[in-house]
Amino acid sequence: MNKKIGLKSLLILIINKMRQRKTKQAELIKNEMKNFSNFFDAQTLHKEIIKKDTTIGIATIYRFLKDFQNEGKLHSYLCNRRAIYSTNKENHCHFTCKICKKTKHLDIKKVDFLKSGIVEEVCHFQIDLTGICQDCLKK
Ligand SMILES: [Zn+2]
Ligand SMILES: [Zn+2]
Ligand SMILES: [Zn+2]
Repeated sequence: MNKKIGLKSLLILIINKMRQRKTKQAELIKNEMKNFSNFFDAQTLHKEIIKKDTTIGIATIYRFLKDFQNEGKLHSYLCNRRAIYSTNKENHCHFTCKICKKTKHLDIKKVDFLKSGIVEEVCHFQIDLTGICQDCLKK
């Protein structure tokens, strides 16, 4: 037997196995993400994933989250200096009161109007509004 070919086919076998594993991991993570109807963070997702596959580490989760974002299947936002993700929410909106400094989330249903006049292709919106909250207005 030719040793070179033997080694080469072994390598192909290993690469195929790695690819299969990556596809399986991607499927598992994708399915798990579907269970979050709202925003989630990487740690929460990881906690759910390891119930099904203990070999998947947090670094792998981050790598896939990045891949999914590049594919446009996932949106990422910054919330309290934490990265959060969503498969279906295309905006994340904060209102921060300049008097009491409290921040709350606003649920904006339609942000499509914001796209008018923008020539770039928009993926999602992160909106930070500042003003005076209802409590402070009453004072
Ligand atoms: Zn996006
Ligand atoms: Zn937030
Ligand atoms: Zn306030």
